[in-house]
Order: sequence, then C-alpha cells, then structure tokens
Amino acid sequence: MQVIRSLSQMMQLVYPAGKSVGFVPTMGYLHRGHLSLIQASKRECDITVASIFVNPAQFAPKEDLSTYPRDIERDLKELEKLGTDYVFIPSEGMIYPEGFGTWVEVKRLSEILCGNSRPGHFKGVCTIVLKLINIVRPDIMFMGEKDYQQLMILRKMLEDLNLRTKIMACPIVREADGLAMSSRNSYLGTADRALALSLYKALVQTKKAVAAGKMDTHMLIALAKQTIRIAGANVDYVEILDSRDLSEQESINEHSRMLIAAYVGKTRLIDNISLNSED
Ligand code: AMP
Repeated sequence: MQVIRSLSQMMQLVYPAGKSVGFVPTMGYLHRGHLSLIQASKRECDITVASIFVNPAQFAPKEDLSTYPRDIERDLKELEKLGTDYVFIPSEGMIYPEGFGTWVEVKRLSEILCGNSRPGHFKGVCTIVLKLINIVRPDIMFMGEKDYQQLMILRKMLEDLNLRTKIMACPIVREADGLAMSSRNSYLGTADRALALSLYKALVQTKKAVAAGKMDTHMLIALAKQTIRIAGANVDYVEILDSRDLSEQESINEHSRMLIAAYVGKTRLIDNISLNSED
C-alpha cells in the first residue's frame, strides 16, 4: 500500500493501462462501514484508492471540526489489511490554497433535510468530492447509503457536470443492536448510546407498520417522531420521501424511504431505511 501525501504525486500517478480504479473518499476514523466500501471496491475494481481528509468546508463554524475524531495510524493499518492500493492524505493547504474561490452547489436536493439544518454543508461536500475525483480520476466511487442525501446529491452532480465517474451505493453497516456505524458514535457516552438506538427503533417500527398496511406518511412520521422523543433524543427531522429524487410523498409506495436526523445530547446522528419490504 502506498500512502500519498503530495497533490502533484497523486495527480500524476499513472495507473496500469486498462485497469479499473475504485475510490473511497472518507474523513477517517474508519469503522466497518468505511471498510465495507473498500471491500466493495476491491471486489469491483482492479485498483482501490482511499482518501482521508477532514474537509473543513463542510463544517459550519460552530460544528465539530476541531473535535472530529482522528487516528491516521490505525486507519492506515486497517486499509493495509484489506489490500488498499493507495491512500491519499492531502493537507488542508493543498486542497484550499490561499485565494481558493470556486464552489459547486446542487440546487433543491441540497436545500432540504440536512441541507436545511446545516446550510453550506453540501456545497462543501460537492466541492471536495469534485476536487478529489479530478485528482484521483476513478472509474467508480463507492459511497454508503448511510448518507443517503449526500449520495443523491453527488449522483446529480456527476450527471449534471458530465463526469465519467460512476457512484456505487453500498448498504448501511450497523452495530449488532442496529445502531448505524458512524465516526461520531465515539462521542456517545453510555446513556447517550442507549438513546441513539431510538433512531433505528423508529425506522424499524415504521417499516413494520408499512408491512402491516399503514400507508399514510404523515401518521407514520408522527409515530416515529414520538418514538424518538419519548426515548429522550431531539428530532431534527423525520421524513418519508421518494428514494429516487427525495420528493415528498403523501402515501407509501415501493420507493418510499424514511430519513431521520436527531440530536442525542450534542451529537447529531442520521439514519435511514427503505420502507419496501423486499429491500
Ligand atoms: P465519512 O468518513 O463519514 O465522510 O464517510 C465516508 C463514506 O463512508 C461515505 O460514503 C459514508 O456514506 C460511508 N459510511 C459512513 N458510515 C457508514 C455505514 N455505517 N455504513 C456504510 N457506509 C458508511
């Protein structure tokens, strides 16, 4: 495994002719969710590149940029074990040099859900991902359904800007009790860890209600909010949307997806689930 910390070295890297390149962008502090993306890339592509960069542009001033968990040495060991070929670790100055002034924004999709509670977040995400794609030049980028809105926004960006890179979506990896894995779970103390599970409980409860024939999205959303509130977490949003374009739905169909964001103490967690019983 080669660790590349130089921008020009990464940009000039020559991949063997005819080999497909898979790319897994991350902010580090890797868990099994991230590692499942590396495994998917190893399965689908000849060469796997990962990146580790905590992107300041996607954090608002009062968010957790300075405390975001980091452990590069452990990350590198995990990536090496899985047979990652290259790990790109740029510095902040390389990515956003003095005078940097170009930003990418996907309208509508970036303005709802997390975009509503975190203004500017997706502008930061789109800009870094487009830059990383230009630097790494992958055929396929592997991303988790954990960040479902991000996935949809980046797909739209690739399509709108005619990029050749494709996105492959990978399922959410969960802890044994159902909590979606997240680097931010490391913020949770024992009591908060129990509250955090209410997001998953609300999702599963909704999926069961749908399987039992409940089709009114407003009623299902109200129930899920209640489950989270009773547990003691603060709901940011609970929505049931069409998984193809994140448009609103009055009634459940095979494309319905529930998306949740909630604060457990100061930690903001997100999770989502397909409400189609066949998924
Ligand atoms: P992050 O390091 O949080 O920016 O995440 C990097 C990539 O890992 C994104 O594509 C995430 O969607 C994905 N990811 C994070 N958590 C999970 C998880 N629990 N299961 C699957 N993918 C995940």
